[in-house]
Parts: sequence; C-alpha cells; structure tokens
Amino acid sequence: MLEVLPLGGLGEVGRNMTAVSFGDGYVVVDMGVRLDAIQAFEDANLANMSLQELVKINAIPDDSPLRKEKVKAVFLTHGHLDHIGAVGKLIRPYRAPLYGTPFTLELVRRLVLEEDERRVEMVRVRPGERVEVGDLEVEFLPANHSIPQTVFLLLRQGEHSLLFATDFKLDENPLLGPPTDLGELRRKVGEDLEAALVGTVRVDEPGPTRSEGRAREMLEETMRRVERKGKALLVTTFSSHLVRIKSIVEISEELGRIPVLVGRSMKNYFSAAAELNLISFPPDLPVYGTPGTIKKFLKKANGSRGDYVLICTGHQGEPTSVLSKIADRKLPFRIEDDDQVIFSASVIPNPINQNHRSLLETKLLVQGARIHRDVHVSGHAARVDTAEFLRALSPRHLLPCHGTPEKLEAMMELGRELGYGRENLHLLENGHPLRLGG
Ligand SMILES: [Zn+2]
Repeated sequence: MLEVLPLGGLGEVGRNMTAVSFGDGYVVVDMGVRLDAIQAFEDANLANMSLQELVKINAIPDDSPLRKEKVKAVFLTHGHLDHIGAVGKLIRPYRAPLYGTPFTLELVRRLVLEEDERRVEMVRVRPGERVEVGDLEVEFLPANHSIPQTVFLLLRQGEHSLLFATDFKLDENPLLGPPTDLGELRRKVGEDLEAALVGTVRVDEPGPTRSEGRAREMLEETMRRVERKGKALLVTTFSSHLVRIKSIVEISEELGRIPVLVGRSMKNYFSAAAELNLISFPPDLPVYGTPGTIKKFLKKANGSRGDYVLICTGHQGEPTSVLSKIADRKLPFRIEDDDQVIFSASVIPNPINQNHRSLLETKLLVQGARIHRDVHVSGHAARVDTAEFLRALSPRHLLPCHGTPEKLEAMMELGRELGYGRENLHLLENGHPLRLGG
C-alpha cells in the first residue's frame, strides 16, 4: 500500500507539506509556510503565535491528521521558505531526523531555527546521493530551479515508488551545475514509476520556460542599455537566487561599477552559500546586512552613485526591504532624476504583492527613477516543459501539487491530454489521503 496524505500546498501556493506511508509509519516531505498569509498578518509576531493560531490563518500546514502517527523522517526538496519555513514550528514533537541537501539545511539552520538547532537531528545528503530509512530508500536527484541544490526526491519501498517533482524547470544552460538531462533522470527513476507529485506553479503558461543563461543575457542587455554616467543603478532580485545574483555581480564589474549586496536577507543567503563554497563570488564583494552598515554605506554611495550597482532586496515591494525604505526616504540614499531601477523578478501574483509592488513603483517614479520590469526567467516548468517531463518519466499515476485550484486543474487537463484516465489522475485535497495499490 502507498498512501499520500497532503497537509498543505493543495489549492494554494505555499505551506507545502505531504506525508507518505508504505504501511509502516509515515515520512514527511517539506514543511513550508504560506508567505501571503504571513504578510497579511505582518504586525503579528509570528514567533510568539501558537501552532493553532498559525494554522488558523493558513500560514503553516495543518498537521493534525499526523500528530498521533509515527513519523520516521522529514525530507526537504529545496530551501525556499514555502518548503522549509515551518520546520521550526512543526518538527520537534515528531522527534524525527531532518534530511536535506547541505545548502537547504544551512538555510534551515540560519533562517528557520535561527541557529537554535538543538533537538533537531540534521542529515546532510548531497544531490545525487541516496539514503535508507528502514526499508525505505530515498534518492536525492539533482533538479534545476531558482535556488541551488534543489532535488527531486524518489521514494522506493518494496514494489512501490513515488517521485516528488514539486519545483523544477528544464534548463539547457542553468549557469550552475549540469543542464537538465531527462534521459539520465529516466534511467535513475526506472521504467516503472508508480506515481509522481508534480508542481503546477507555471503549468497554466504555455512556455517553454527560458533558461537561466537567457536571464543573464537579458540582464546584460538591459544593464548596458540603461547605464547612465553618474546615475544610480539599482537591481533587485530574489536573495535566494544566487546564480542570478552572480550574473548581476559579473555584469556590474564588466560595466566598471562596483557591485554591492544590500539587505538583511541578501547577506543571509550569501553567507550560507559562502559557508559551503557553493558559488564563487569576488573575494572582496561588499555585502551589507545590518541596519548600521547599510546606512553607513548608502550615505557614502549617495554622493558617488555612479560608482556602484546596488543589488538590493525589494523585488516584491516588501515594505521592510531596502528598496522600499529608499523609496520612503527612510535611508540616506535619495532617488534622483534618471536613476535606473531594474526588477529581475516577476510579481508573485497575489493581491498583497501586487499592491506593495505598484506602490513601490509609484514612489520611485515620482522621484524621477526609470523602471525596468521583468528582466527575469521563471524557475518553474511551464506547460510544454511539464509535458516533456511527464512523457520522459511516464509515471502511472499523476498527482498535481503545489498550486491554486486553477493551476491544479490546468495540470489535470494536461494529464488527460497525455492519456491519463480517471483512475490514474488524482486531484488531491489537503487533509485527504490517497491510497494506491491496495
Ligand atoms: Zn521553490
């Protein structure tokens, strides 16, 4: 028997968590938060909120169906907060070890457990390696996404096999690590994959999703085109997207400007990557993450704005980000006419982000900035890429996951087009188990 019990991430974007049983206790994959729910309650102190309160506002998964069960291990697919952000709130009562790639666990340690990792046993597994937990075998297969060391998880026990492919893209030029090789993945997964949970974040877009190499070309073209002598150049992107940040750093140097990372989370992710020697950055790259050092640097940069590229937080218009605080004149750096601001990110489509972002853009525009949007490629497979992935791996059962009802339905439709019948195509709901194979 194979049971899949989703506890979050179905019918919504965020708070991903799925329990799996092969008949002898459970293992869990991912424990994420839902960022829009957290933003909606930004005045509340989440650290002080009880588990019940956090579940009630849909900020973390509702793991109540699992509380009385034996949980043998928790596995993490990658380091985005919608996959790891609830570890600190949920894992301890299970007394289960936490398995993840080194970078993912470094982020858990720094961002989620805030360096208080007592009582959580962490097992670091490199992409490409496999581990055994009792009779269960779990392979960490390398995947391309928008954060380093993302994996597909392949769970095998007896005749059962289940693949987690929540967040991935097909990328022929990812700039870090090898390109996606579906033939190789097929060989590792085998000819007879029983079931796959496949993420739907961008499956409602035709695609194909462009490669990270293309993002670098777009950035290079834009940064060269908008470069104005003596004017500020600010670029904002995801702090966790270290490959993208490396591209921006390199292009800045080619332009003869000094790249500088500014913002608390910029420093957090950069330090985690540096600790593991994951990506090579210039050894003297300035990185400012504390309020004091940020203010001191920006005061200096304000008088010599043409010397730098400010790589800063704020791509979604988050009110506490560096870019928002600059726009609000809360930091000693003033936007002037013809300063250039590049958004190397798309707006994550929820009403809070959309409002924050348009407010930020308006503030920047009225102060004279020129804005350049969407210099970005997605980290998620679109429809054609997902179809190619499904054809290559041909799981017997398709379980759409990680998406709003519309996105789950788009994947159902793609499944039907690829020949999946009612008995092989499963629309899951949080809290409702699916049992396969008697
Ligand atoms: Zn992700």
